Amino acid sequence: MVWRAVTYRAVSDASSPAPASPEKPEMTKAERKAADRILLRRILELFKPHLGMVLMTTGAVLVGVLLGLVPPYLIKSIIDEGIAKQDLGVIGRDSLWMLLAVLAGAGFTLLYGYWGVMIGQKIMFTLRQKLYEHLQGMSLRFFTSTRTGEIQTRLISDVQGVQTVVSNTLVDQVSNIGIVISTLIAMFLMDWRLTLLSIGLVPLFAVIGKGVGEFARKVRQGTQEQTGELNAMMQETLSVSGILLTKAVGRQDLLANRFRVENDKLAGWLIKSSVVQYLFFGMIRLITQLAPALVYWLAGWLLVARGDTSITVGMLVAFTGLQIRLYFPMTGLLSAQVEILSSLALFQRIFEYLDLPRDIKDHPKAVSMTPAQLKGKVEFRDVVFAYDPDAETPTLKSLNFTAEPGQLVALVGPSGAGKTTLTYLIPRLYDADAGQVLIDDTDVKEIKLADLSTLVGAVTQETYLMHTSVKENLRVAKPEATDEELIAACKAAAIHDHIAGLEQGYDTIVGERGYKLSGGEKQRLAIARAILKNPKILILDEATSALDTRSERLIQESLAGLMQGRTTFAIAHRLSTILAADQILVLEKGAIVERGRHAELLAQGGLYSRLYNEQISVENREAESASSG
Ligand code: ATP
Repeated sequence: MVWRAVTYRAVSDASSPAPASPEKPEMTKAERKAADRILLRRILELFKPHLGMVLMTTGAVLVGVLLGLVPPYLIKSIIDEGIAKQDLGVIGRDSLWMLLAVLAGAGFTLLYGYWGVMIGQKIMFTLRQKLYEHLQGMSLRFFTSTRTGEIQTRLISDVQGVQTVVSNTLVDQVSNIGIVISTLIAMFLMDWRLTLLSIGLVPLFAVIGKGVGEFARKVRQGTQEQTGELNAMMQETLSVSGILLTKAVGRQDLLANRFRVENDKLAGWLIKSSVVQYLFFGMIRLITQLAPALVYWLAGWLLVARGDTSITVGMLVAFTGLQIRLYFPMTGLLSAQVEILSSLALFQRIFEYLDLPRDIKDHPKAVSMTPAQLKGKVEFRDVVFAYDPDAETPTLKSLNFTAEPGQLVALVGPSGAGKTTLTYLIPRLYDADAGQVLIDDTDVKEIKLADLSTLVGAVTQETYLMHTSVKENLRVAKPEATDEELIAACKAAAIHDHIAGLEQGYDTIVGERGYKLSGGEKQRLAIARAILKNPKILILDEATSALDTRSERLIQESLAGLMQGRTTFAIAHRLSTILAADQILVLEKGAIVERGRHAELLAQGGLYSRLYNEQISVENREAESASSG
C-alpha cells in the first residue's frame, strides 16, 4: 500500500466504516412515523435562517390568493347583472376590474415564485456546502470504505433532487392551502349544497395521495441507490486507472455486462417512478372531470324539480369556476404529499452523511504546536492498531521505538508488514487503538489537528496532481508561497529546469487531462511540494519502480536536501537511504522484529540480511553502480 496524499490533511475517522448505503432495519409503522416527524422538523429547520423572507413570501402568496377569488364573483355579476339585464355599464366596469385583478394576481405570482426560488437556492447552497465540508473532514477509513461515485451521488444528485421541494413546495403549499380555504368559503357563500357535494369527493384524493406517496418514497430511495451504484461503477471503470486495468486485462465485455445489469435495474426503477406519476395524475384527472357533472345534475334538479331560484346561470358558471379552482390546488396539495414523501428519502440520505460521526477530531484540551516550537522527536509506546476491529490479529502489534529529532528512520520489511500503516498513525490519519504516538513527548491526540497537519508532511510514491497549473499544484502545499519561493523549491528538487522548459512554464496545466509528467518528474514535484510545506517530520515512501539513472540521481540529490534537519521516516527501498539511516526498523507481520544500523543487522543474519540478499541488494546494486558509474 502506498501513500496517496502528498500533504497530510488532519482528518477525522469514523469509528466504524460507513457503508455506502447503510442497512436499515425494518421499522414499525409507529417508529417510521416518529422518524418522519423528526426528519420533517429537521427539514423545516433548514428554513429558519430565512424566516424573514419566508414571511414576506407567505404575505405575497396570500395577496395573490385573494386576488384570485375576485374573477369568479365578477363573472357572476357580469352574467347575471350585465348580460342578463343588458347593462353595459356593469359589463364594462366589472370586466375592467377583472382585468386589473388578473394582472395584479400575475404580478404577485411572479414575485412569490421568485422569492420561493431564492429561499430554495439558499437552502440548497447551505446543504451542499455543509455536506462537502463534513465529508472533507471524514477519515481515511470512510473514504477507503465508500465509493467515490456513491459520495458524488449524495452530494450532487440527492441534493439536486430535493431542490424542487425546497424551492417550490413551500410557496405552492401556502398558496394551495390559501386557495382551498378561501375558495371553500366563497363556494359556501354561493351555495352550501353544491359545496357539500363538491367536497364529498375530497377524501378520495387523500386516500389516493397517501397510497401513491408511500410507493413513491420507496421508488425514490431505490432510484437514488441505484444511481449511486451506477455512478460508482462509472467512476471506477471510466477513470484513467480503471480503463488501464480494463484494457490491460482485456475484460471490456465482462464490465459491459456488469454495467448492463446495473443499468437495467436503474431503468426498472425509473419506469416505476413514471408509473407513479401517471397513476397519480390519471386518478386525480378522473375525479376532477366527474365532479362538474355531479354539480350540474344537482343544480339542475334543485332548479327544475324544487324551483330554487337562487340557482342562476351566472352563479353556476361562477361556481364551477370556483370548483375547478378548488381541485387544482387540492391536486397540488396531494401531489406535494407524494413529492414530500418521496423527497424524505433523499433528505434521509443527505442527513445520513451529515450525521456520520467524526471520531478523529480535536481533543477538547488540544494544544497548539507550531513548527518553531517543535524539536521533532517521535515516539511509539506500545502502539496497537487494527483496520478491522474484529480482526484476530491487529495490523500493528505493540510497537515501541523513538526517533530522535533530525534522525532518519528507515522502515524495512516484506510487503504487507505494516510500514505504511505505521506512518499513518503519526499525522492521525488513523488513531492507535492502544498505546501512544508522541511528538516531542505530547500524545498526537492532544495536538490540534490543524497544527499536526503542518508539522507532518509526506512524499508519496504516487503523486496526485490536480487538473490545474504547475503553480497551483505546488501552492497546494503553501497557498501563500510567492513565485520566487516556488522556483527556489523546484530548483532544490531539481525540477525547475524541466518546468521552465515547458511552453507555458509554471502555468502549464498538468494533472488528469493536462500535460503528462513522467514518474520521476512527478516525484520531484512532490519533493518540491514538501520543501514548500517545510514540515519538521517527513514521511517518505520511496518509489519501488526503477527510474533511469539520471532521474534516480536527481531524486536522490533532492531528497538528501529535503531530509536535512527533519525527522524522517522512510519506507526505504534504496540502499543509499538504508545506509544513511540512523536506525532501521525491520517490520514483519505488524511487529518490529529487528532494529539497528545496516552493518549490525547484516551481521545478525536474520530477516534483514535475508531481505537484503533477496531484494534490496539486487534492486539497488544495479542502480547504485549505474549512478556511480
Ligand atoms: P507494502 O510494502 O506492500 O506497501 P506495507 O508494509 O506498507 O506494505 P501496509 O500497507 O501498512 O503494509 O499494510 C499492512 C496490512 O494492513 C496489510 O495486510 C494490508 O492488507 C492491511 N491494510 C492496509 N490498508 C488497509 C485498509 N484500509 N483496510 C484494511 N486493511 C488494510
